Amino acid sequence: MAESNTSFPPASPITVETTHRAVFLDRDGTINVEKEYLYKVEDFEFIPGAPEAIKSLKDAGFLVIVVSNQSGIGRGYFDEQAVEVLHRHIQEELSGHGTSIDAFYFCPHHPEKGGGDYKIVCDCRKGGPGMLLQAADEYNIDLGNSYMVGDKLADIEAGQRAGCTPVLVLTGYGDSVASEPEITSVEKCLDLNRASMLILDQSSKNNDDALLTISSE
Ligand SMILES: [Mg+2]
Ligand SMILES: [Zn+2]
Repeated sequence: MAESNTSFPPASPITVETTHRAVFLDRDGTINVEKEYLYKVEDFEFIPGAPEAIKSLKDAGFLVIVVSNQSGIGRGYFDEQAVEVLHRHIQEELSGHGTSIDAFYFCPHHPEKGGGDYKIVCDCRKGGPGMLLQAADEYNIDLGNSYMVGDKLADIEAGQRAGCTPVLVLTGYGDSVASEPEITSVEKCLDLNRASMLILDQSSKNNDDALLTISSE
């Protein structure tokens, strides 16, 4: 969350804000094996190659940000603290691979199944773009040069609505939605590791194109 401290002097007008490219990642079925309302640390299991994919994206200069629908909170299956504990565990595991996630965002709501305050039609639940827009605001992300990787139509839709390039992985539920007509033009990759290769390949090609444009002017 952004914090403001009014005792700070105003930012210098010559400050140049750098924009970041990001790869937004769904969590369950994309980073880790899908296990229906996962919240226990002992049930967490990386999809093979996922830590290496995260490392390669970060090493290439992307922010890697998890955006996860966790309606299990709203449904009363587990609480927000359990999700925080699991995310700390993921960071510890990733540190063993020499990498980390830059930020985690999750939506605890559900429009029908949520209890109490969690039963709302929110903008953060994917297919809505809310979590991506919030992250873009907080981390100064150029959404048009960013990606959203996930295994469900809601991930693809959230990415598209935020203006990112969506990529479907065939892990988790991905295999069962790959043939849906609304995503015929969406890139599909076997898993997160392949998706990271595609993204790095595309972004290096875009850089080459930009350099060619500059040099031909
Ligand atoms: Mg998923
Ligand atoms: Zn929400």
